[in-house]
Amino acid sequence: MHRHTIIVRRAVSILLLIAATSSCTDEVSSSDPAPVSWEEFKESSTIRHDGRELYVIEEDLRVGLDELRAHYDAHIAPQPLGVISQASIVNVVNGSDDIWRNGQQLWLTYCVSSEFGDRHQRVVNDMNTATQDWENVASVNFIHLPEHDGNCNVNNPNVLFSVAPWNEPMNLAFFPSSQWFERTVWLNLGLSRTSIGTFRHELGHVLGLRHEHLGVSGCPNDPPGDHATVTPYDRSSVMHYRCGGAGDNRVISPLDAEGASSLYGPRPARPGLHSEYVGCDEGAPDFMLTFYAVRGVWPERFQVEAKRGGSGWSVIHDGPEDQILYRGEDRRTDRIRVRACNWAGCSREMQRSVRADCGTLPQ
Ligand SMILES: [Zn+2]
Repeated sequence: MHRHTIIVRRAVSILLLIAATSSCTDEVSSSDPAPVSWEEFKESSTIRHDGRELYVIEEDLRVGLDELRAHYDAHIAPQPLGVISQASIVNVVNGSDDIWRNGQQLWLTYCVSSEFGDRHQRVVNDMNTATQDWENVASVNFIHLPEHDGNCNVNNPNVLFSVAPWNEPMNLAFFPSSQWFERTVWLNLGLSRTSIGTFRHELGHVLGLRHEHLGVSGCPNDPPGDHATVTPYDRSSVMHYRCGGAGDNRVISPLDAEGASSLYGPRPARPGLHSEYVGCDEGAPDFMLTFYAVRGVWPERFQVEAKRGGSGWSVIHDGPEDQILYRGEDRRTDRIRVRACNWAGCSREMQRSVRADCGTLPQ
């Protein structure tokens, strides 16, 4: 039993292949399995919505018909004991992570359907909060395009995914490798007072994260499988259901953050800023300003601004150099602030004051 399953680093098709319900696991491994036909399995996994059929596994993950069939063949269909090989399943997927790539992770555009009616603004706000929470822990960027809210569905090519209401007794997400027509986050507004926690969870799927509770006793189950582990089992994960003795924690836990940043890369943390008075030239003190990364994420450039005496902020440097000379004024206090930036965005700022008296020598 894998108790250390959080984020599965395989392609989604792989992820889907190794996913199953607890009853499936029992049936497959039992010495006297009760066979479930493909038709029965398909019917039990089908939701009919707006005249279309949607296929769902693990309660809130939408898959295509091909993936559903592959899932059935791998885990549900009657077959001789000992034939199921996780290694071969992993081989099918080539061990590649199911994540957004090639810059798409910084351009995750979405609309929020105007069909939410008078609760549209609430959903927009909740999505804002939930997306920012993920953006704060990994190099991903969600972009709401409100001009498409009135035509918010999978047929609109101007958004990557839609957020839309429905009345099915569940919420539903998709994976990065899902087909374009599967890219809707379906939300049942009646299921909870606020949608922020729900969106945090569903957006975790959108980023490629699996359920944390897979393999945990007392939870919706998964066959024993070769899940590559990103971080240790975390009962407070936002991807954990209320089961197996764990709560329904709908905030991004520190280990969730670590997992997401290991998949997508972290944003640079607030940099360090060191200033050193190095002497005066023509009555004006010079300071050597040194910027350095903390938490091991090296930024591509530093944005540096200065506030000279009582003036406003002005940019004095924006580039990859991690050390610059700054000239102040004798016995005047200036403020320096710096942010570390990489392709994912910029960090929060670090501020320091610099002041020197040209009548004293540097230490
Ligand atoms: Zn889920």
